[in-house]
Amino acid sequence: MVPVAIYGDGKWSKVLQDILENEYSHLVEEAGGEALQCKAFVSLQKTENAITIAEFAKEFAMGTLAAIILPKEYYIHQNAIVMALLREGVPYEGIYVSCRLEGIKDISYNALLTPFLEDPYLSYLEYHVADHCNLNCKLCTHYSPLVMEPVFTDLDTFKKGLKSLKQKVKDIGIIRILGGEPLLNDQLPAFIEYTRFLYPAAIIDVVTNGILVEKISDELIKTMQDNIVFFHISLYKPVENQIEKIKRFLVEKNIAFTVSPMNDVFMKTQKLEESQNTDFFFHCFQATCTCLQDGILMPCYAPYTTKYFNRAFGEALPTEEGLCLTNPGVSLEEIKRYIYTPMERCKYCYSGAVESWQAVGKKSCKEDWV
Ligand code: SF4
Ligand code: SF4
Repeated sequence: MVPVAIYGDGKWSKVLQDILENEYSHLVEEAGGEALQCKAFVSLQKTENAITIAEFAKEFAMGTLAAIILPKEYYIHQNAIVMALLREGVPYEGIYVSCRLEGIKDISYNALLTPFLEDPYLSYLEYHVADHCNLNCKLCTHYSPLVMEPVFTDLDTFKKGLKSLKQKVKDIGIIRILGGEPLLNDQLPAFIEYTRFLYPAAIIDVVTNGILVEKISDELIKTMQDNIVFFHISLYKPVENQIEKIKRFLVEKNIAFTVSPMNDVFMKTQKLEESQNTDFFFHCFQATCTCLQDGILMPCYAPYTTKYFNRAFGEALPTEEGLCLTNPGVSLEEIKRYIYTPMERCKYCYSGAVESWQAVGKKSCKEDWV
């Protein structure tokens, strides 16, 4: 028996355990291999039924657990889990991903499990359709208040970039369309349609501050309904009094939505002095926000938006980062390794002071950001 661990201790982990230890193990044995046994469930936090990532890493190093398998359905956690495994010294070779388990019918010997680096799948992707915003929060990590003019993502360049990604990455768990404020872009329906066309199984949502939701066009409503796209409203103080009305509007229009808890604090995450320690990357929640902008793939959007900070304050923080997907030499393995690798820009990030939310308007000074 090959002892393995499965991520999570919920429904999909149990479904995977059942398939793995029964139908799949029989197929492996028929093919001359050894059956698999799930010896442990693993969780980011210790639970009654699951060991931690650190405990898994220890057992992996001792050889008492041969691998960890991530059920594909836990797409929202996958980047964070892989980051945590790498931080604990587990090599990519010890990580496997299952196929989508929902509706699984025919299990074949080579379809259930894929080594992580060979799986043509990303659990998460986001892209901007507008860099500017109508709310202008102080410490906005996208620097939207520093974008003085309307800046919209070019649709054709976006399509080219996503098409290049599709040639290597066949499936994505969740795709978030954001900004800035995405509802400022009148071409949003076209972005949605192309995203759905290339990634039919992905969950797609539009992340908005909500201000413009009740003014969206009939075309956008229909596009969201037809393509099963929902809103995620990031809630800020100025929208608090309207949120119930916005929710009623969305129910009436038959568009699904989620609303975040009130974002009443922001954290300073940027500094001007370079640090040589890249450890922050492996603890950074934004490092799990794989971003595609103008055909360039990055672990997060900071290198893309930093140009606005540099322009406003005469700084020269790193912006030339990312993997150019239109370069035909880029491989799937390179893509997958790259999104878990610290960038030069990461040397200027840290966990700074927490401040109460406030709008900074279009006039801010450097001290508002660093
Ligand atoms: S709502 Fe605030 S945090 Fe979100 S993009 Fe706009 S300015 Fe930035
Ligand atoms: S640049 Fe690196 S450390 Fe900074 S927010 Fe992005 S991923 Fe995190």
